[in-house]
Amino acid sequence: MGKDYSLMTVRQLEDLRLLVLTRIEAVPEFRRGSLQVGYRKCGKASCRCARPGEQGHGPRGLWTRTVKGTGSRGQYIPVEHIDQVRAELENYAQFEGLIADYVEINEALCRARVGPGAGARKRPAATGGEKGGAEASPQVSPPGMR
Ligand SMILES: [Zn+2]
Repeated sequence: MGKDYSLMTVRQLEDLRLLVLTRIEAVPEFRRGSLQVGYRKCGKASCRCARPGEQGHGPRGLWTRTVKGTGSRGQYIPVEHIDQVRAELENYAQFEGLIADYVEINEALCRARVGPGAGARKRPAATGGEKGGAEASPQVSPPGMR
């Protein structure tokens, strides 16, 4: 929504947080991925779709979505369900937008609770040499691994 949440009070942010959560709850069923609608030639020489000027069988939808680790997943969508699947994809876009808002509001709320000017204040160095790397970093491989 592009609002500047940093200008809002804790109370306003709390209200907005609830409102967005209600909206998320109200999003109808959704799916990720994309939908292509097209015609297809089946390849049989005797079929009418092989004749010149024929556009092929269809229209038919193909819904695809990339799954982490396993690559792309697809499903053919009968023509009578194409509008439904389009709506489900739009619902996901709506859900994603709301989630992004919800995250922003939560972070703004966390910042607002700390108080104004908290971010600008200089923090006293509580533990000297923290940035110097005195502590062993866990991601460093032991010498034998290189
Ligand atoms: Zn055919």
